[in-house]
Amino acid sequence: MSTATVEIPTHQHVLSFVGAPRKMLIGGRWLDAESGKTFPTYNPATGEVLAHVAEGNSIDVDKAVTAARKAFESGSWRTLSASERGRLIWKLADLLESHLEEFAQLESLDNGKPVGVARAADVPLAVDHFRYMAGWATKIEGNTIPLSVPYTPGARYHAYTLREPVGVVAQIIPWNFPLLMAAWKLGPALAAGCTIVLKPAEQTPLSALRLGELICEAGFPDGVVNIVPGYGETAGAALAAHPDVDKVAFTGSTEVGKLILRAAAGNLKKVSLELGGKSPNIVCSDADVEASIPGVSSAIFFNQGQCCCAGSRLFVEKGIFDKVVAGVAEDAKKIKVGPGMDLATQMGPLVSDEQQRRVLGYLESGFSEGAKAVVGGRKLGDKGYFVEPTVLVDTTQKMKIMQEEIFGPVVCAVPFTDVDEVLQAANDSIYGLAAAVWTRDVGKAHRIAAELRAGSVWINCYNIFDAALPFGGYKQSGWGREMGHNALELYTEVKAVTVRL
Ligand code: NAP
Ligand code: MG
Repeated sequence: MSTATVEIPTHQHVLSFVGAPRKMLIGGRWLDAESGKTFPTYNPATGEVLAHVAEGNSIDVDKAVTAARKAFESGSWRTLSASERGRLIWKLADLLESHLEEFAQLESLDNGKPVGVARAADVPLAVDHFRYMAGWATKIEGNTIPLSVPYTPGARYHAYTLREPVGVVAQIIPWNFPLLMAAWKLGPALAAGCTIVLKPAEQTPLSALRLGELICEAGFPDGVVNIVPGYGETAGAALAAHPDVDKVAFTGSTEVGKLILRAAAGNLKKVSLELGGKSPNIVCSDADVEASIPGVSSAIFFNQGQCCCAGSRLFVEKGIFDKVVAGVAEDAKKIKVGPGMDLATQMGPLVSDEQQRRVLGYLESGFSEGAKAVVGGRKLGDKGYFVEPTVLVDTTQKMKIMQEEIFGPVVCAVPFTDVDEVLQAANDSIYGLAAAVWTRDVGKAHRIAAELRAGSVWINCYNIFDAALPFGGYKQSGWGREMGHNALELYTEVKAVTVRL
């Protein structure tokens, strides 16, 4: 862990925010849980309690859904002019931007990530996402469609489509990018005119709740955005099963994604899922090796490896395997691991003791099956939830660590000899979220991009995200695409209107 600490003083607003129990946002008011219960959220760098938060259960969820339904039916949001909706979303982006430091610190304290990363990535990306979606509010259009209707010869029709908000939306988000995931969910739903009940992850509810305050400050009508913190098995499950919710959007594990799907079956609510990944990162011997090494390192080590699209399976062509693995191991050794609020820190703790145990369990399983650590492989320190950046070799396709999502700073490196072989191995996964290829051969790059079964493919780069780029998974990595104009499809219904002329 880093020794030279430059821990920054906690922002005054952050101190006062975590100093009082946080309530839930329902119908424009901040309320305690009906049960009166709260739950603790922890600082993963120390394991100490950071704040207490109202613990929503099915009764609170029901209240929030009722508030969202009332706001939807009243038309206070969906019939507001598109330009006014866009203006409010943009105002939220401005407010968020003006509180950048506060949000970066909240995110760092609650999730563990380096505050510098939250300042440079999480918060600006969330701001940009709201701005991008604000622009879409005025551009959600239908089409006119020429009809031929063979069984009514001579009759003339005018037909067109309308895109309408899907209704009351439940959004259940994870802990790896708490604020950004809230933005990915809220932005398009708001642009489309939906009303929302958002459930943040139990580990990281704080930035969403602070965002709720800005939503009130911006002037969104009451009940348009409701935020119910609580546990997945209670609040989350109640939301997914609620008969008056029209759509559920979920990001998290594939395992819980399947539970959401089952819960949604009761009223056949629409479902979109952004789930796990085991993304292949392919380095060919004709790549710019010097550029690929830091690319490969950040593909796995960014956000402590807790990215659904982490480049966790590294395939390197035989001739350069040792060089690339040694380079990535060297990078791993140099990473300064420490508390997120220390400006020298490049990698923070994992989000929770549970996540630390899960990752260490995978390492143990890998070692017992014959994998070897070139670097790392253990937990770090005895306070907080740190794990060493780890590079594993001697990993084979059948091993659990090559098949399952580890969601920690652990990469499995495997040599390959030709393109067909690596494509076969790369696609040998239940997942298909992201992938990358490093090569100077343009034809080969595009051939590999075409044949990889993944929702995002990066060529000579990794983790390039933009509000305009669709993101989502093939296979068991999910249903639907977030971001880009594709995200609006998740939150709109298409109505075909036909007029006899
Ligand atoms: P998770 O359980 O899938 O959590 C994601 C969200 O779903 C949280 O808000 C969670 O609430 C909620 N949830 C849990 N059970 C639910 C249920 N039965 N019905 C409705 N909602 C429910 O993820 P996790 O347990 O925190 O992490 C486990 C693994 O999931 C990780 O190791 C990683 O592999 C994967 N993961 C993937 C992503 C991603 O971005 N794709 C993000 C996080 C985790 P609570 O927080 O209260 O449980
Ligand atoms: Mg926390």
